[in-house]
Amino acid sequence: MISFVGAGPGDADLITVKGRKLLQEADMVIYTGSLVSKDHLKCCKDSCEIYNSASMTLEEIVDKMEKAARKELKVVRLHTGDPTIYGAIREQMDLLDEKGIDYEVIPGVSSFTAACSAIKREFTLPNVSQTIILTRIEGKTKVPEEESLELLAKHKASMALFLSVRYMDRLVEKLKKGYGREDVPVAVVYKVTWEDEKIIIGTLKDIKEKVERAGITKTALILVGDFIKGEYERSKLYDPSFSHEYREASK
Ligand code: SAH
Repeated sequence: MISFVGAGPGDADLITVKGRKLLQEADMVIYTGSLVSKDHLKCCKDSCEIYNSASMTLEEIVDKMEKAARKELKVVRLHTGDPTIYGAIREQMDLLDEKGIDYEVIPGVSSFTAACSAIKREFTLPNVSQTIILTRIEGKTKVPEEESLELLAKHKASMALFLSVRYMDRLVEKLKKGYGREDVPVAVVYKVTWEDEKIIIGTLKDIKEKVERAGITKTALILVGDFIKGEYERSKLYDPSFSHEYREASK
């Protein structure tokens, strides 16, 4: 069996119990070297074959998985964060489908939730935003025009931007246009849950300089929105005057 497994954002304890068990039992592990901690590999069997996919092509990766699967070996394809977000797993799964090889996908803790936890905030607040937009700015990979940052920012929803910290200049300009103001809170979280994690807090006005000063050019999540700082309403769920399925309102 081939298991695509989410490794979580960095800290090896943030993998799921199911993911850890699959790693312990694996005969072959192919991990995304750039962002998966080697600590994950400590639990593998001595006989486990381990490959870093950073220097491999899609065809080479799938070829290795195919050969192992045909020998009935247990394969873990270990991806950073959650495999379903910017994981490039679809192309691997489609090739495996063509070859008639079965696989499963085990979710993981994405870096965007880890980043929000690191700054001790909640994306969804009553009267602030009930929506999270996960996106990126255009880089080598194109982004559909309808999803430009400027348009998305007009929604004033809570945002998490992946793969974008290298383009702070363009990003800030687009967000300012969309929001129509400069004082929107921004948090940039570098290497969340790793030992060298860094958190930079600012606004659209000053975040670019702050990120430059900190020397951050990659591996960061950019969180944007009034959920980071400002007023919000209390939730209905724990409001004493509100009854629901599990609790009567107090008078
Ligand atoms: N599947 C991953 C995302 C892979 S794309 C997930 O769910 O998190 C790679 C991008 O994710 C990076 O450019 C960065 O924006 C973000 N990222 C991944 N790991 C991170 C970490 N530990 N700290 C901050 N950002 C991270």
